[in-house]
Amino acid sequence: MTVTETSRDEWLCECGCGRRWLLTRGSVGVDGGELRFVAIPTAHNGERLWWMAIEVGADRWALTRTWLKDNNISSQSLDLAASPLCKVGPFDGAPGLAMARAELLADAAVKTRLFAAHDLVMRHHPSIRAHLDPETGRDFSFKMPDCVWSQAPQDRSPRNQLNFAERGEQLFVRALFAVPVSDGDELRVGLWVEVSREDFFSLLNVWDDPAAYVAVKLRGVVENSLSLGGRDVQGDAVTLAPRNADECLFFAASDDPRADALLKTGISVRELDALIAEVRRAMTKQSTPPGSAGAR
Ligand SMILES: [Zn+2]
Repeated sequence: MTVTETSRDEWLCECGCGRRWLLTRGSVGVDGGELRFVAIPTAHNGERLWWMAIEVGADRWALTRTWLKDNNISSQSLDLAASPLCKVGPFDGAPGLAMARAELLADAAVKTRLFAAHDLVMRHHPSIRAHLDPETGRDFSFKMPDCVWSQAPQDRSPRNQLNFAERGEQLFVRALFAVPVSDGDELRVGLWVEVSREDFFSLLNVWDDPAAYVAVKLRGVVENSLSLGGRDVQGDAVTLAPRNADECLFFAASDDPRADALLKTGISVRELDALIAEVRRAMTKQSTPPGSAGAR
């Protein structure tokens, strides 16, 4: 592996927003050597940042700040005092480990090594990649109920669409299982839930009536097989409700205490990659449509 992660910690944001970002440490292979790194991805007001320190020589670290704006990634080197990493080990007790920006810019070889390492971490660190690509990194959805997917395409109902599906007498709606993450964001997985005929048609009737739609509350049973935290949610009895008039239904509660805790309490950002890996594994049985997991 080009990039090896050695520890995952949480870092309480210093701006007072209360969010806990990932603090990741590891090493990256450059020119036959291993360079250590420390990184914190953050996001405020829609601006996704990634702060990093890279050990470009023995006890010589360089600091970078990288940000995503309008789908363009920019990065710059900076002085330690301008980075939140100044309050994180090893710099909190030894600020002299960090090169000054002016010193770095004057050393072309070190600068080249720094940005080679920077780009490798960006491309090969799963958490950094997901952070810079939030559209695809945290939104997933099953295309259809498993029992519909298992039908031959010509046997599937022509009335099936993005949020509604049927198989014989069985009726299904799609809803987002949203897991809050300690960094203030959430992981969303679109799952199909079997509902009663009465609920299905009452939902259809208000689908284009925002005021009535936001008052909807449905009960149903999860139809897709998905392991979350090592437990399959298929067969769970759940409550669905919209959050607002612009998005599809969400899971409001689950009768299973572990699934309900995931919905209400969420997870630490440290656990996010493991949960995403579980979701990706489940998704391979149906191909994932690109983007718009929350679209109505
Ligand atoms: Zn903050």
